[in-house]
Amino acid sequence: MNSNLEIANKTSVDEKQTFDVYQVRKDFPILSRRVNDKPLVYLDNAATTQKPDSVIDSMSHYYKFENANIHRGLHFLSELATESYEKARLKVKEFINAMSVAEIVFVRGATEAINLVSNSLCRSEHFGSGDEIIISEMEHHANIVPWQLLCDRKKIKLKVIPINDEGELEIDAFKKMISEKTKLVSVVHISNSLGTINPVKEIIDYAHSFGVPVLIDGAQSAPHIKVDVQDLDCDFFAFSGHKVFGPTGIGALYGKTEYLNMMPPYQGGGDMIRKVTFEETTFDDIPHKFEAGTPNIAGGIGLGAAIDYVNQFDRNVLKEHEDELLKYATEKLLEIDGLKIIGTAKHKASVISFIIKDIHPYDIGTIIDTDGIAIRTGHHCTQPIMQRYNLPATARASFAFYNTLEEVDKLVVGLHKVIKMFR
Ligand code: PMP
Repeated sequence: MNSNLEIANKTSVDEKQTFDVYQVRKDFPILSRRVNDKPLVYLDNAATTQKPDSVIDSMSHYYKFENANIHRGLHFLSELATESYEKARLKVKEFINAMSVAEIVFVRGATEAINLVSNSLCRSEHFGSGDEIIISEMEHHANIVPWQLLCDRKKIKLKVIPINDEGELEIDAFKKMISEKTKLVSVVHISNSLGTINPVKEIIDYAHSFGVPVLIDGAQSAPHIKVDVQDLDCDFFAFSGHKVFGPTGIGALYGKTEYLNMMPPYQGGGDMIRKVTFEETTFDDIPHKFEAGTPNIAGGIGLGAAIDYVNQFDRNVLKEHEDELLKYATEKLLEIDGLKIIGTAKHKASVISFIIKDIHPYDIGTIIDTDGIAIRTGHHCTQPIMQRYNLPATARASFAFYNTLEEVDKLVVGLHKVIKMFR
């Protein structure tokens, strides 16, 4: 290796904080609270993640010292707020390695990102009657319903890639499904219900060989793995700030410049125009033409702070810790008599859905909540997955890098208590 490069690489590794889970937990104030007089065990990270002080402080700082509307004012505070907000866009661009900040559209979250693409493409020439969109059986409702709405309006057919019993996509079926009628593939990177990490690069490459663009729902991948949209070569990527240790109400849509330029605005209003007359309106450049109205300025700044927080660590080290949690929790849960894990894919993130005999998941969740253990129960906004496994609901424990092996042990103790109660 070139010695300059060697030094540059070494420096960047050295600059990363060493990872000590107990030290890291101190950065998240909520993790030291008690629930039902027990220390909180927060295992609902696929629903939303907790926020470090730095994120909370960045938003409070904005409101205390910088609050002004952005892009429009020439005064000091407006310029300061604009700079902080646009800096956050740059951080998002780097977080997912987009080519340009113009490719980062701030939205409310993954749901709004997907709705933006579907509504905008619906108004464009991209889709015509008889065209097809491919999604999968393991999609979150956010990556199903917007396409159904579009299909109704445009007379388009929705095709669904099936999953096998382990909860993996049937890639051969996908390959048979795609044709000259396919105009978009939209699939989840990591399933929020099953934990499956999908081979999205293979899907993207294959779709591109047919000239078909691909949207990746990255709501669950952004928090767990280092995303590189240029390496993936996806055409769109959607994620939510609140699942990457940032605030709610903010997220990003990445779109390749060629697509964002071709797509018409989805909402109209202030801040997205170049000139308005009653006869004609011309729109601003991307990404602004997709950002009508006053945005979530504090949210954008908070998301930037969340990205800074995550970036202080080597992402591989965070992933190793989560993989250890997944492995340990899987082993421990499988020792519980009558417990069955739903979603046993070879490649998984730290999300475990399970059922225990005929105990309703709501009972499991309610009982362990009395011990301060927070898990999710229900269909997790993936009703087709529940139908696939013929289940009304599952219980789901989902881990973040601040969780510990001791918390897994507490979950196991809690589940034994549940079983005892139903004996
Ligand atoms: N996709 C997946 C895979 C998700 O897990 C979620 C959130 N549970 C969403 C989309 C929607 O995210 P949001 O509600 O933040 O828009």
